Amino acid sequence: MNEPKPAPRKIRPSWAAFPTFFDGAHRALGEECDKIGDDDVALHDPPRVIPRLGQLGLLQLLVPANQGGGAWGADGTAVDVRALCVAREALAYTSPLADSIFAVQGLGSHPILLAGEGAKRASVLAEVVRGERVAAFALTEPEAGSDVASMRTTARRDGDTWLLDGDKVFISNVGIAHHYVVFANADPAAGKKGISAFLVDANAEGLLSEPIAMSVDHPLGRLSMRSCRVPASALLGEVGMGLRLALGTLDVFRTSVGAAAVGMARRAVDESIARVTRRTQFGKPLADFQLTQAALADMATELDAARLLVCRAAWEKDAARPDDATRGRGDGVSVAMAKMFATEAAQRIIDRGVQLFGGLGVTEGNVLDRLYREIRPLRIYEGTTEIQKLIIGGALTAPPR
Ligand SMILES: Cc1cc2nc3c(=O)[nH]c(=O)nc-3n(C[C@H](O)[C@H](O)[C@H](O)COP(=O)(O)OP(=O)(O)OC[C@H]3O[C@@H](n4cnc5c(N)ncnc54)[C@H](O)[C@@H]3O)c2cc1C
Repeated sequence: MNEPKPAPRKIRPSWAAFPTFFDGAHRALGEECDKIGDDDVALHDPPRVIPRLGQLGLLQLLVPANQGGGAWGADGTAVDVRALCVAREALAYTSPLADSIFAVQGLGSHPILLAGEGAKRASVLAEVVRGERVAAFALTEPEAGSDVASMRTTARRDGDTWLLDGDKVFISNVGIAHHYVVFANADPAAGKKGISAFLVDANAEGLLSEPIAMSVDHPLGRLSMRSCRVPASALLGEVGMGLRLALGTLDVFRTSVGAAAVGMARRAVDESIARVTRRTQFGKPLADFQLTQAALADMATELDAARLLVCRAAWEKDAARPDDATRGRGDGVSVAMAKMFATEAAQRIIDRGVQLFGGLGVTEGNVLDRLYREIRPLRIYEGTTEIQKLIIGGALTAPPR
């Protein structure tokens, strides 16, 4: 009689593999997150993702305790980057779609916190945390991608309203968002110092949105604003704060893009191990061939290198004083290295996984095929790999402080 085969080995999540970087609360969060299975159907259906994440309590990670969110971080006054990373790694493992929508919920609410408007917008943040409101972040324009400061969207004061004019492109959560944090120049004569942030209702007069079809089924689109009228109170903070709010928000969330890449790459390794132990060619399992083992060795080693960089960057962010405007090392190098290396490594890991699956790996419905398409945008959004290199290289060649 054949013995039942043992379940294939699985790679432990980062919070379990590298416990030094995490505390008890992160481990408890990790254990909860790891219960989320592929069968949680709401996490694969865009309009149901945010309500479901609200039920799971994960949206509390996006708002610090002193602003109505969860009790995370040293003193509950800042978003805890390690907690974000634990959640994003787990979500990306099962549903890259849910991970992306979760991250954009953060991007579309964090500028409110950075503007110091947590109390003024308490009801907005409460809806964000409960999963009753979907947020989005509208920075990129057709002619202003990596060079965000060259944006052309303008905001003009008209009595007790603002009129926004311009176009935004590649905006995640278009179609499901209730509001957009829109960046526009309210003082073009001042150049980038005029860039300001506005909380714009998705139903605002003069705002049109249309979807952009992606290679994966994520909500993405463009916005056009033609004399889009919003109340004076839509301004977040003050005129001229926009770039600081945008870059400050990206600075908090960028490390977690690396964590999402790690989640997808870890899934690819787990799926590959399972596949090569089951698939037999030339009379024995693929796992018994040294070339297969070498491929898995490369995948697992790159995965650990990637997640160690992510853990370091997240730990540095959380270790810095919450009131320190330059949280972490201050030069963004650890974050840039983590984002760049993890996303690039995840692409290589997943590509090797596709190869191990053979033809099956490029068929519709196969998990490796899905991951192959899901991982690609992470090397582009929140600062392309080239922009991360500019940050690292710029710091290396700057005069010593
Ligand atoms: C799936 C997805 C979701 C997104 N979601 C959002 C969102 O929610 N909100 C939002 O505002 N934006 C979003 N974006 C936009 C994203 O941030 C931009 O695509 C990104 O910043 C790059 O801008 P770009 O596409 O205009 O490329 P470009 O800036 O035109 O860059 C094209 C290429 O040139 C390179 N390059 C640019 N400048 C330099 C340089 N100085 N030196 C060397 N190389 C350079 C880039 O690295 C890239 O390889 C999303 C994008 C994607 C793909």
